[in-house]
Amino acid sequence: MAQLAADGRPKGKLVIRNIGTLLSGALEQPLLDADAIVAIDGKIHELGAARDLDLGDADVVVDAKGTTVAPGLIDSHVHPVFGDWTPRQSQLGWIESFLHGGVTTMVSAGEVHLPGRPRDVIGVKALAITAQRAFSSFRPGGVKLHAGAPVLEQGMVEDDFKDMAEAGVRLLGEVGLGGVKRGDEAKQMVAWARKYGIQSTIHTGGPSIPGSGLIDADVVLEADADVIGHINGGHTALPVQQIRCLCEQCTRAIEIVHNGNALAALYAMRTAIELEQPERIILGTDSPAGSGVQPLGILRTIAMLSSLGEVDAATAFCFATGNTARMRALDCGLIEPGRAADFVIMDRAQHTAGRTLLESVRMGDLPGVSMVIIDGVVRCGRSRNTPPATKLAEVVAA
Ligand SMILES: [Zn+2]
Repeated sequence: MAQLAADGRPKGKLVIRNIGTLLSGALEQPLLDADAIVAIDGKIHELGAARDLDLGDADVVVDAKGTTVAPGLIDSHVHPVFGDWTPRQSQLGWIESFLHGGVTTMVSAGEVHLPGRPRDVIGVKALAITAQRAFSSFRPGGVKLHAGAPVLEQGMVEDDFKDMAEAGVRLLGEVGLGGVKRGDEAKQMVAWARKYGIQSTIHTGGPSIPGSGLIDADVVLEADADVIGHINGGHTALPVQQIRCLCEQCTRAIEIVHNGNALAALYAMRTAIELEQPERIILGTDSPAGSGVQPLGILRTIAMLSSLGEVDAATAFCFATGNTARMRALDCGLIEPGRAADFVIMDRAQHTAGRTLLESVRMGDLPGVSMVIIDGVVRCGRSRNTPPATKLAEVVAA
């Protein structure tokens, strides 16, 4: 059924019809009035009422059975190493497991778990370029993992960022996880990175593991990275006054992670909403981590923020899709023509008290995932990880 050309590129026409609820990923209009989507060669071509679209000659037709379609979820904060293996919990197949949690894109916050990770400048650069290359051509389950995220070490100079950018590196791993921990030193390197198109994230809060250190609000503000990484701590959160200060005194992305402090997560989300800047909220898992690997971490964070934070579920889905795509300039995360045809099809879990999927999430339940599509290609059917969906999407022609 997959439509991949010999060179691995997506090819052909995919139709999804009979969509009950369509989540856009965009905060300005989280719900779309459309019951069908057409994707061609891995990109969204058009959407609307089925009767108005050309649904003929499709290579694959998916009947959504009146259930909910959303953009594939984006995990803004993961720590891969190589392959679909993590040494953090000696686990295999963790990325493919996230696919079954609706995640279609991941962003590395540093390949820092690599045993024997190099800390000299040439080694840091070589690792970043190797990780970027490796995950560009290796996609477990089809998941797109943007990797090659070096952490800042002492002695890096402007030319190092230029070299890495020219070699394809687009991300910095968490500032503060390497040898550079002072705000003034980080600020200079973050600025060099930005000059060459490399986006940065900073570790916020207490140390994650023995050997790492505290990064408080003053350091975060001084370094001025593009993403306030795990504003709710990874795991230990800053005092709420400092979280408020970060939200108020800069305009950078406010990243909330599953493996952080839930109370601080709610506080950060409420503060961003109070400031009328909900578009800054993006979600990650910060896994693999000491607390494990959570294939459902993004869905769980959406359900937690929606239920305990009293936010409409369709809005909470935007935090993990369109917001992240816009903050990180990714070509996915939104249901609109030209974007990557990455979708998660879900329904209310069996026996949830919620009458609809969105109501069930608002009540704190997880949805059941029945299909995940990446670049217009069906990558999995009923999830092995979520609770079973009440109704399942189905491939009806291929
Ligand atoms: Zn992290």
